[in-house]
Amino acid sequence: MINRQKGTYDVTPQNNQKWLFLEQTIKKVFSLYNYEYLRTPIFEATSLFKRENEASDMVKKETYDFIDKGDRPLTLRPEGTAGAIRAIIENKLYVDKLKNKFFYYGSCYRYERPQKGRFREFYQFGCEVLVNANPISDAELILLAKRIMDDLGIEVVIKINSLGGSDSKQKYTKALKTYFSKYEAELCSDCKERLNSNPLRILDCKVDNQKAFFKNPPKAIDYLNKDENTYLKQVKEILDCLGIENIIDYKIVRGLDYYSNLVFEIISKKTGMVLAGGGRYDNLIKELGGPEQGAIGFAFGAERVVEEMTIEPEKHYDAVILASPQNGLYATKVSELLRKNNFLIYSDLNDRNFAKKLKEALLFNPRYLIFIGETEEAKRMVTIKNTITKEQKEIALDNLVSIIKE
Ligand code: AMP
Repeated sequence: MINRQKGTYDVTPQNNQKWLFLEQTIKKVFSLYNYEYLRTPIFEATSLFKRENEASDMVKKETYDFIDKGDRPLTLRPEGTAGAIRAIIENKLYVDKLKNKFFYYGSCYRYERPQKGRFREFYQFGCEVLVNANPISDAELILLAKRIMDDLGIEVVIKINSLGGSDSKQKYTKALKTYFSKYEAELCSDCKERLNSNPLRILDCKVDNQKAFFKNPPKAIDYLNKDENTYLKQVKEILDCLGIENIIDYKIVRGLDYYSNLVFEIISKKTGMVLAGGGRYDNLIKELGGPEQGAIGFAFGAERVVEEMTIEPEKHYDAVILASPQNGLYATKVSELLRKNNFLIYSDLNDRNFAKKLKEALLFNPRYLIFIGETEEAKRMVTIKNTITKEQKEIALDNLVSIIKE
């Protein structure tokens, strides 16, 4: 037997209803807020992800890179934003200001050590909004993320922070480097490397954050200029007014280097799991060859969201059809008639003990049982039993749809 690959999983009947409900909810909520669906390829040119300004651990070490048969260096997308922005620039989607909000849903690939909530193939759903810095639109984006969580029955808290624009971010990065250099000997091997490549990411380290020197590192908020500081406070105030639970947390830095100004994480209240990350990336569009256009987005990890879902979406069957194989064709016509009218039907045409079939049919909890045998077929009718009133009667096929509709 060939098994699935490390860090991958199958969606099976055990939890497929949750996945389907999640997908419906994503499409419903993004549509309600006027977002356009954007689908991009799973593989892109390696250079899209491995840019000069992007030194994050994920892009440096965790991507699935390969050379195709035409000698092209390609990478399986490790996240959604770079591909989405590439598509926005390539298709000039920034021109139509009425369609400047995009959402996506698809698989991503990172060669990480698999653990709880961490896979090598995982799904992200998220969005990118082409809008220059404006606290109201930033808050509206967070509102939308919260609405998706509400509809899925997941309680969350939003942690926000600001890294400032490039000047402030540079000053802050320098301050972190100076601070953590004092403790270089105590840093884990990854953080020793980050000290040069990306000191911000040290704040995110799950190994070093237990150590004493971690209690009081410099905070981004102390390096913001006046406008950036006001901006963060305005976003917080708007979220408070909208009734969205949030806190400013200076340790939120996000994994990718393209973020600037506002950054946020969405955390499950029940488990503390980080379900989503997002923020502004006001320079990325220009960096990738597009116009000067600010943008903001977020990405949720779908596996983590499904894991948190307590809603058990149920299928409500309208009817189960029980027929013998000899009457299979007639029974199939009956079920097709009902399905055309959007009734949810389970049809059991197997040649088995009738009592057993009946017992199993009741597990579907249908409103009606429909029995089909030789007599029913000969007379173009069905025998129907209401499972609540227990009333059983014969009805002409022509009346079946109207009876079930009642
Ligand atoms: P990031 O793109 O790293 O900002 O991650 C955004 C979200 O994607 C995270 O909050 C997680 O929910 C999810 N995520 C990131 N990496 C993985 C992974 N390896 N497996 C599962 N979910 C992930």
